Amino acid sequence: MQTTMRKSQTSAAIAADNASVESMATMSAPSNLHGFDLVKEEFVPEYNAKGFLFKHKKTGAEVMSLSNDDENKSFGVTFRTPPANSTGIPHILEHSVLCGSRKYPIKEPFVELIKGSLNTFLNAMTYPDRTCYPVASCNLADFYNLVDVYLDAVFHPKCIENERTFEQEGWHYELNDKDEDLTYKGVVFNEMKGVYSSPDSVLARECQQALFPENTYGVDSGGSPEVIPELTFAEFKDFHGKFYHPSNARLWFYGDDDVENRLKLLSGFLDEFDAKDVDSSIASQAFFKEPKRVVKTYASGEDEEAQKCFVQINWLLNDKPFDQETALAVGFLDNLLLGSSASPLRLALEESGLGEAIVGFGLEDELRQPSFAIGMKGVEEADIPKVEKLIYDTMEKIATEGFTDDAIEASINSIEFSLRENNTGRFPRGLSMMLRSLSAWLYEGDPFEPLRYEEPLKHLKSRISSSEDVFRPLMRRMFLENTHRVTVELKPDQKLGEIEANEEKMKLSAKKASLSSEEIEHVVAETAALKLLQETPDSPEALKCIPALALSDIPKSAKEIPSDVGSIGSTELLTHDLFTNDIIYAEHLLDMKTIPEDLLPLVPLWTRALGRMGTSKRNFIEFDQIINAQTGGISVSPFVSPIRGDPNAISAYMVFRGKATSDKAGIMHDLMTEMLFDSKLDDQKIFKQLVLETRSGMESRVQGAGHSIAASRLEAQDSVAGWVNEQMGGLDQLEYLRKLAKRVDEDWDSVVADLETIRKCVSSRNNSITNLTGDSKTLDLSLSSAEKFLGSLNQSAPASSANAWKTINPAINELLTVPTTVNYVGKAANLYKSGYELNGSSYVINKLLGTTWLWDRVRVSGGAYGGFSDFDSHSGMFTYLSYRDPNLLKTLDNYDGTVEFLRNLHVDEDELTKSIIGTIGEIDSYQLPDAKGYTSLMRHLLKITPEERQERREQILGTTNKSFNDFAGALEAVRAPSAKVSAVCSAEAAEKAKSERPDLDFQIKRVI
Ligand SMILES: [Zn+2]
Repeated sequence: MQTTMRKSQTSAAIAADNASVESMATMSAPSNLHGFDLVKEEFVPEYNAKGFLFKHKKTGAEVMSLSNDDENKSFGVTFRTPPANSTGIPHILEHSVLCGSRKYPIKEPFVELIKGSLNTFLNAMTYPDRTCYPVASCNLADFYNLVDVYLDAVFHPKCIENERTFEQEGWHYELNDKDEDLTYKGVVFNEMKGVYSSPDSVLARECQQALFPENTYGVDSGGSPEVIPELTFAEFKDFHGKFYHPSNARLWFYGDDDVENRLKLLSGFLDEFDAKDVDSSIASQAFFKEPKRVVKTYASGEDEEAQKCFVQINWLLNDKPFDQETALAVGFLDNLLLGSSASPLRLALEESGLGEAIVGFGLEDELRQPSFAIGMKGVEEADIPKVEKLIYDTMEKIATEGFTDDAIEASINSIEFSLRENNTGRFPRGLSMMLRSLSAWLYEGDPFEPLRYEEPLKHLKSRISSSEDVFRPLMRRMFLENTHRVTVELKPDQKLGEIEANEEKMKLSAKKASLSSEEIEHVVAETAALKLLQETPDSPEALKCIPALALSDIPKSAKEIPSDVGSIGSTELLTHDLFTNDIIYAEHLLDMKTIPEDLLPLVPLWTRALGRMGTSKRNFIEFDQIINAQTGGISVSPFVSPIRGDPNAISAYMVFRGKATSDKAGIMHDLMTEMLFDSKLDDQKIFKQLVLETRSGMESRVQGAGHSIAASRLEAQDSVAGWVNEQMGGLDQLEYLRKLAKRVDEDWDSVVADLETIRKCVSSRNNSITNLTGDSKTLDLSLSSAEKFLGSLNQSAPASSANAWKTINPAINELLTVPTTVNYVGKAANLYKSGYELNGSSYVINKLLGTTWLWDRVRVSGGAYGGFSDFDSHSGMFTYLSYRDPNLLKTLDNYDGTVEFLRNLHVDEDELTKSIIGTIGEIDSYQLPDAKGYTSLMRHLLKITPEERQERREQILGTTNKSFNDFAGALEAVRAPSAKVSAVCSAEAAEKAKSERPDLDFQIKRVI
C-alpha cells in the first residue's frame, strides 16, 4: 500500500453515452448545501461531467463533486502529509488508520471491507507529499458504506490511542524468549526492507533525494528501514493531529449518485470540527546554479555478472506545476523522446550496447515541481561517462534538428487515441480523474484545470501545424540549458548486504545488553501480549458494526457478456457487441502447440523481436511510427493454460492483439500481416540487446516479485502447461537467457534458424480463432479486413504439428537464493490429483483464508507484507504464498496450520454472508469493454459454459460452515510430505532452513 514517485497516467474521457450530455450540462447545484458553500461550477465536456467545487463553511475542507453516468462511483480523501524525516511516519499512519476507528472499533475494518464488499477499488497510497484514501463501487449502498468507514478511519482512528497498532504496522522489538536474539518486526518495516532489496528502488530513492535536497522530497515518506526504529509513538500521534484535519483535506466524489447525498454524508463528519490553521504547504526546491553528481552503492550478489552499475540523469523542470498548455507540450515531448521503442532517445540508448536496459521514469508531473529522468542499468563502470555523453549528444541533436513530421504525427495520434479510449484498465476512471485533478489542486491550483485537454490540445496542434518551432526551444530550456541536473551513479558492493545486516544485529545486541533482566522479561511479555492480541479474532458482536449488504442485494444469476460464436472461413469467430466509442479491439489466436518443445524458451524473445528489426518493407522507426500514427497499438504474446477436466489438455495460442478506430481496421490488419510475415529476424546486435534487456527484467523480478517466481516453479513440477509457462517466464527462462546471450555471440546462425522455425510454426490458419469487440457498426466495418488477415495465413496445417509437449520438472523442495533481506515462501499441491472436485465454495474459502488465517498469521503476527493462497480452478493447484516475509520455516508451519483452522472454524451467519458477498463482488468485477471481450474469449478457450458459471455461482451462494470444514480435508494434500516448497531467500536463510529441516531435503540453487 505505497506509491512513491511514479508516472502519471495520460487518460481522460469521452464519456460513454453522449445522449445525456445536454442534461449533464444544465444540471444545477443541489438546493440544500448541508453547510457547504458553492465555490465554482463547470461542465467538463471531456468527461461529460458536471462538476461543483464546494467549501465546507466551518472547516474550509474542499470537495470536488463530479456527476456523470458512470456507474463505477468513486470517492477519495487526500491530506497533504509532508514528512520531515525518513522514519516513514506518513506510510505507517496510512496503514494504521485503517486498523479500527470510533464508529468501527474492531481490529481491521479495512480487511472486513475486503471480505464483504462489492468494491471495485479499495486501497490507500502514500506519496512523497500526500496520503490518499480512495474507494470505488458500482453498488450505491456499498459505495456509501465504504465512504463512511474511510471517513471515520481518517478522522477518528484508534491507532492514536492504542500503541499496539503502531507496534504492529510500524515497528517493535520482538523477543519470544529471554535467551533469543532481539529482532525488529513490523509490517511497514518489512515492506520497506523488501522495497530496498531491489537496486531499482534504491536508485529511485537516491535520485529523488538528490534532486530535491532542500524540501520534503529529500526524505523518504515510505521509510528507510535503518531509520524506521527511531520513530516514537508520540511523534506518530502528533503527525496525525497535525495533518489529518478537515482544514487540510481534499475530498472527491465522482459518478452517477446524488450530489446532495454526498454533501449530507460529508457534513456528518466535518461539522464536529472547527477550522484549524494547518501548515502543510510544500516548499519549492530552489534551482541549482551548477549540475551535481552523486555516487552511491547497493548490495549486489557475488557473481561477476552481478557487478553492474546504474547511471541516471535527473532534471528539475520548473519551480511550480506547469500551466495546462506547457504541461501538454512537455507531455508530448516526453512521448516523442521515450514514448515508443523507436523514439530517438530510447532508441539511441537501447542500441548503444552500453547497458542492459533503460531506467528513469521520463516525465514526472504529479509532484509540486515536475522533473524528468533517464539512464541505464547493467552498465560497466568504465562506460558510465559514455552513457552520459550519449544522452547529451542525442538531446543536442534533437534540439538542433527537431523531430520528423512522421514522428510528431505518430505521437499526436497515440495521445489522441488514448484520450478517446480512456482505458484505465482495472483502475476506476473516476479515480484516475481525481489523481489528475490533484496535480493542480494539491498545490493551490484550480482542480478543474487538469481535467481539460480539448482546448489546449487544439491550440497546441495548431501551433505545431503552423510551422512554429514548439519542441526545439523546449528541449533547450528543459534540458540543455537547465543547470538543475543531478547525475546519480549506483555501484555494486558485495559486502554491503552483510555490513548492513551486521549493523542491525549490533544495534539490537547493544540494545539487549543495555536492558536489565526485568526489562528483558518485559519485552518478552510485550511480544506475547501483542501476538495474543493479533491472534485473537474480533467477536462476532463487534464485527456487526461494519455495515454489510444482504444476500438479497446480490444478483442471483451470473452476468453474461454479449457473445456470438460463428465462423469466418475456416476460422472460429467470436464477436462481442459492446459500445467502444468507435474503437475495434481484435485478437487473432494462432495455434502454438506446433512449436517444438525445445524452442519454447525462445518464444518471448521471438515476440519481442517481431518488427523490432524492421520489415522487408520499412525500417524499424518507420514501422513503429506507422503503427502509432494509424492504430492504438499492436502486440503479440503467448497464452498457455491447462483446461479443467483433462490433465493432458492445454490451450496454447500466439495472440496477435490490436486496436484502432473502425476506419483504420484495414490498415491495422495489414500491419499485423506485415509484422508476422515480413519482420526481419536476422539483426544480431539488436537481438543481443533484447536478450540482455529481458534478462535484466527477469533478474529484477526475482528480487522484487519472488512469490511469482516460486509459484511458477511449483506449477512447472505439476503440469505440462505449468512447465511451458516456466520455460517462457520463470527461472528456467532466466537460465535459458543467460545461455542464449553467449549463443548469440557464438552461433548466431542457429538462433536465426530457430526464430524462423517459430514463425513457420505459428503462421498457419489451422485451429485459429478470431475475437472482435465493438458495437455492431464497428464490427461490420472490421470484418472484411480481419478476413484478409486470416487469408494471408498458410491455409494448410504445418508439417510440425505432430509435436507433443510432455515434459515437467522433477518434484523437489527448492530454495532459490538472491541478495535480499526478505523471503518469498511458496508451498503447493494439486487438489484434483488427490480427488477433490471443484465446488464454488472453494472461491469463498480461498478468499476467507487470505483475510483471516493467513492474513493474521503470516502478515499481522508474522510481520510479512503479504500472505495469501491461490486456487487455480483450471489446473487444480492450491498454492500458499508469502510476500516480503521475515520468516521461512515458521511461514510453512502457518500454512500447515490452515487445515486445523478450517476444520475447527465456525463463522456466524453475518460473517458467512459477508464472505459470500465479497466473493461474488470479485467474480462480478467491473470491466471496461475491451476487458469484457477478452474475458469472454478466455471462457470460450477454457470451455467454461454459462451453465457451469451459473452452477458455480449457486454453489458460492450456498456455501455453509460445513463447506469450510470439508475443505480442510482437501487441504491435507498441501500439508502432506508430497506437497512441495519453493522459496526465494538469501543464501544465509537457505542454509539455516536446510540445517533445521533435513527431512525436507531442500535443494539450494543460487540465482543471483
Ligand atoms: Zn505499505
